[in-house]
Amino acid sequence: MVNRGDFLHALEEVKPAFGVSEEELDAVIQNGIIRFDGIVDELLRSGGLIVEQVRTSKRSPVVNVLLHGPPGAGKTALAAQIAQSSQFPFIKLITPDNMIGMGEAQKISAINKVFVDSYKSPLSVVVVDNIERLIEWSPMGARFSNPVLQALLVLIGRRPPKDRRLLIIATTSNRGILTDLGFEEFNQVMRVPPITSLSALDYVLRDTKLFRTKEDHREAIEMLRDAGFDRKADDPKARLSIGIKRLLSLIEMARQEPEGVAERLVAALMDL
Ligand code: ATP
Ligand code: MG
Repeated sequence: MVNRGDFLHALEEVKPAFGVSEEELDAVIQNGIIRFDGIVDELLRSGGLIVEQVRTSKRSPVVNVLLHGPPGAGKTALAAQIAQSSQFPFIKLITPDNMIGMGEAQKISAINKVFVDSYKSPLSVVVVDNIERLIEWSPMGARFSNPVLQALLVLIGRRPPKDRRLLIIATTSNRGILTDLGFEEFNQVMRVPPITSLSALDYVLRDTKLFRTKEDHREAIEMLRDAGFDRKADDPKARLSIGIKRLLSLIEMARQEPEGVAERLVAALMDL
């Protein structure tokens, strides 16, 4: 698990020349990255390879990647982690969370500024987080902000100036609509899956030290098995499917009271 300490350490090592937004990135990876499944390592490894491609390839000055997956699967944290690990001198996160209350024009200008600033650095990563929320997509009547969409399409598709290299990592929980809206040309698309196996759940429970004794932990796993949580994801009756974000918050809730931790966790998981 990469913790806050590692982060601060990593940040001390890189002296950003162009303004890496440390707090911003730090905040979205607040709970670290738990390697609960081989897929997590694979995603980080693929991310690392793409970073190297941007750093070294003469032919691809701009590479854009899409991380998609269900709500809470960990898309933003993984994007931030890949960005952070690149140690590129310019790393910036564009997120709807920082644009609350902004009008269309203000949003566009904020988004545009990030890209324009990135062109000043030889190597940059821009994370375009939660595209559907950035464009205020609403399934009701399929509405969205066309001006924001157009700005994003132009900026994501644009080649940076000569001798500038840029990695764009976009995230979405709704890959389906992106194609309809005109985002078709991502160089790479990676799916961030929810947790579906008991072994991954087990790993997270260990990592977060929810149980005080091995015995308590073992009992909880037994309860989960009895409740049918060990079914394979391809089993039509498979019941476990939870994003790491949600799981971590259930764990924190279960932790609040010392008694009946396992019971409360299992009940919450059964309620999904
Ligand atoms: P949303 O759909 O709401 O945008 P998301 O998919 O972007 O959610 P995050 O906001 O990234 O999910 O939340 C994931 C949380 O889980 C973060 O707090 C992160 O630190 C933590 N986390 C722990 N392990 C992992 C992991 N292996 N991958 C991603 N996030 C992880
Ligand atoms: Mg997110």
